Amino acid sequence: MLRLLRKVVQTGQVTLPYPFAPVEVAPDFRGKPVYDFSRCLGCGACARACPPQAITVEWSAQRGVVTWSIHYGRCIFCGRCEEVCPTGAIGLSQDFELAATRAEDLVVRAELQMARCPGCGEPFAPARELEYVRASLEAARGAASPVLAARLQLCPRCRRREAAARSGPAGRRQGGGSR
Ligand code: SF4
Ligand code: SF4
Repeated sequence: MLRLLRKVVQTGQVTLPYPFAPVEVAPDFRGKPVYDFSRCLGCGACARACPPQAITVEWSAQRGVVTWSIHYGRCIFCGRCEEVCPTGAIGLSQDFELAATRAEDLVVRAELQMARCPGCGEPFAPARELEYVRASLEAARGAASPVLAARLQLCPRCRRREAAARSGPAGRRQGGGSR
């Protein structure tokens, strides 16, 4: 017993005072993905890249909104969402304390408005994503041409119709019935 006590005193403290004091994690620690709504486009790249489908992006044409959500209970902290996000709206943090007493506390949801096509009135893409594309084109070309800017506002079906109408009767025959 005395030998054991001597060993304990010689060794000193080998445990951390956590949870009574914060624990320091490695700089590249992969913790809870943090979502920044103000930067999100609703593009869905993170949802497509997320292996366990912890992130979902659902469109509701009826309500004209895109619902973005993350379920932390499913997250495997791989960081794919951070890699593919074009705006840095999601990124891994150093937070690992995810315990919750209710399952719904592990879910974060956000809703983004969809843009409506001026041709047919149907919502067809997140408004922020369209604006992001328009601004990117403008940055790449100096200024987006009015024709291009107007075409961007159209849904794919109306855009095809518009292109077919511009290309004459042969184009109209080809584009008129397509979706
Ligand atoms: S870290 Fe991986 S599992 Fe977690 S939300 Fe991002 S992509 Fe999905
Ligand atoms: S990839 Fe980024 S911008 Fe696109 S939906 Fe995900 S968090 Fe939002």
